[in-house]
Amino acid sequence: MSYTKSYMILHQCGRCRKKQPFVSTGKFRVNANKNKLDIWLIYQCRKCRHTLNVPIYERVPVQKLPRELYEAFLDNDRELAETYSSDRGFLKSRHFVILQE
Ligand SMILES: [Zn+2]
Repeated sequence: MSYTKSYMILHQCGRCRKKQPFVSTGKFRVNANKNKLDIWLIYQCRKCRHTLNVPIYERVPVQKLPRELYEAFLDNDRELAETYSSDRGFLKSRHFVILQE
């Protein structure tokens, strides 16, 4: 298994009312609405655990998503979650600020 590094996101926390590091929970949230799917990777404030949803798919037709991938999201597949949380390009494309260590 290859080593992956999950990045933290620097984000304004609605509860702390200041910028905090957010860490991946490794959990996905899947929402189905009239054949369209929204999928997020859930992050949480390292201090107060306030959650932040990072969008992976937005309003994608169910049939466009491979069955295996869909089930991996539903199962909170750990490797899949790490694939996203360690992908700088993905996080940047969602306009999140990666916390440099
Ligand atoms: Zn917080």
